Amino acid sequence: MPDKSRKIGRRDLLKTAGLAFAINGPQANAAPGGGGAARAEDVFPRAWSVKSVDKPTLGETNADFQRFSGADIFQIYRPLKDARDGGGAYEAEKAAKAKRTAEWIQKDLPGLSLRDLQLSAGAGTVNHSAKAGEGLLSWTRISVKTPAELGVPPYRATPQGAALTVKAAARFYGAGMAGIAPMNETYINRKQTGREGKEGLEISIEDVDIPSVTAEKFVIPRKMKWVVAIAIPMDLDLLSRVPTVLGEAAVSLGYSDSAFVVASLAEFIRGLGYQAIPCVNDTAATIPFAVEAGLGELSRLNKLVSPEFGAGLRLCKVFTDLPLAYDKPIDSGIVEFCKRCKKCAETCPARALSFDPEPSFKVRGPWNNPGHKAWFEDSYKCYQYWQQVGSGCGICIASCPFTKAAGGWLHETVETTVSITPIADRFFRAMDDLCGFGKQPRDLEHWWTKGRPAAPRRG
Ligand code: SF4
Ligand code: SF4
Repeated sequence: MPDKSRKIGRRDLLKTAGLAFAINGPQANAAPGGGGAARAEDVFPRAWSVKSVDKPTLGETNADFQRFSGADIFQIYRPLKDARDGGGAYEAEKAAKAKRTAEWIQKDLPGLSLRDLQLSAGAGTVNHSAKAGEGLLSWTRISVKTPAELGVPPYRATPQGAALTVKAAARFYGAGMAGIAPMNETYINRKQTGREGKEGLEISIEDVDIPSVTAEKFVIPRKMKWVVAIAIPMDLDLLSRVPTVLGEAAVSLGYSDSAFVVASLAEFIRGLGYQAIPCVNDTAATIPFAVEAGLGELSRLNKLVSPEFGAGLRLCKVFTDLPLAYDKPIDSGIVEFCKRCKKCAETCPARALSFDPEPSFKVRGPWNNPGHKAWFEDSYKCYQYWQQVGSGCGICIASCPFTKAAGGWLHETVETTVSITPIADRFFRAMDDLCGFGKQPRDLEHWWTKGRPAAPRRG
């Protein structure tokens, strides 16, 4: 059943205005020559306006760029800093948030009720049981039989053929998109993401055959030169209900989906006779790999925005020694659009995002890795807002004009227009505001009774 609370759709609006045709022309979504949008070499068809380029549109590094520490990821940095400062503040913040949450549950507030909270908790179950190097995210084979055990030779294919195979499998397991980037050792964290406010172990890259995890360190074989970068679309209907625990369920499910997809893909690759390391947010920065694999561009959010899914994505990755053809970064006009749009920064209640007209090397705190160019965020302000609302937030992600369901007007008009017509950027941003897109639905709890497909959106 369609959501009747939205009286006018983007596409309807543009049709009414006659603008979709006027701006794009009749061939807007067809490749030059009328050959359709699909690229023969990819399993994920893209609009012709998504151009492959040699360098990412944003994210260039300088001599200051070094391997980051998982201990500086904000969620780990915050309790560690508190411990260094003498302790107490972090625990007090957690207790205050828990008290507020309990009061809201007692009052059965929309989006903050017990069933809302536990919907999110249930959605996060797979993720919570997936720790770097353990269980689902094991760095070695879990249960698949190797070709040697089956008495057959390993899988052989050209790098192009193997890339298609791996991408097809990733999509089957639930990826919205998958691309291949070269391994870049500077994107691997120096230290693993720790747990419960503790620093993680060293991550070492060595000339060994097999990945290993010991009580001392995590070891990545240097021969793992290929990274399968994966984007998992989140449930946009739930995402539109942030900042509530009901809306947060979209993020929880995105993390669980990520763990499931990388675990399944790693076992698939091991079953072909190769090594594979599945990672979600752990082990390495995912965004630069995803940008280099052409999944999207580094945006004002300091997150990846894809022309197809916007910012409504979780990212994850698999490292492997299976030779795969590399993809290239893309330019679909997103960075240029971000320079004029600023909607995420304006909608952020914590004023945590940058309003700077241009990206720069100026970091906002130790949670940003210096030496690369970006629009950096103030994670501390963001965190403080999360404490107030008792859940994660994500207003910035939901409000981005690119974070729209496939088939919406951005996909039929803007996706093919921002890359070639910067003059239209302000207009599209204004139209997005006018339609109220990115705003919370008035009836948050309607989610529980409305009809929906049997499973969340997949790709
Ligand atoms: S998650 Fe919320 S508080 Fe954090 S940057 Fe986005 S809009 Fe701002
Ligand atoms: S809301 Fe606008 S400025 Fe922010 S990431 Fe999206 S397109 Fe860029």
